[in-house]
Amino acid sequence: MPDQISTRRKVLYYGGGLLMVAGIGAFMFYMGWGMLGGFEDHELKERMPAVMLTSMAIAMVGGFLNVIGGKGLAGAGLILDPDRARKDLKPYSKMAGGMLEDALENRDLSQSVSPGETIKIRCRPCGWLNDEESNFCHECGKPI
Ligand SMILES: [Zn+2]
Repeated sequence: MPDQISTRRKVLYYGGGLLMVAGIGAFMFYMGWGMLGGFEDHELKERMPAVMLTSMAIAMVGGFLNVIGGKGLAGAGLILDPDRARKDLKPYSKMAGGMLEDALENRDLSQSVSPGETIKIRCRPCGWLNDEESNFCHECGKPI
């Protein structure tokens, strides 16, 4: 089913997102801990750069997987294959298109014809919009 995102990609998407959150969380945690006095522990202080690098790397890998899961290998630009990119991105573009349709639908609803609105008849020779009940054009006088 090309319109649906495959389970494998969903796993990548959510797993990547989790990794990203975990990596950023670990980074913030260690940074906060260091600021709050954790740096006084000599061993921890020495390990800090490595821990921070690792947590950022985990977050980056997570973010990467997240993008691949959401847009597919080709859609994320890792494989240069326009046809496959279009296929990979289809669920995404469909989603965006759907949201656009929703927005247009809302606009249509707000602009829909109200019950009391009068119907106008266009005069064929001159194009003037006349009231529904008029027999002759208000502008040029020809019969409608
Ligand atoms: Zn007319």
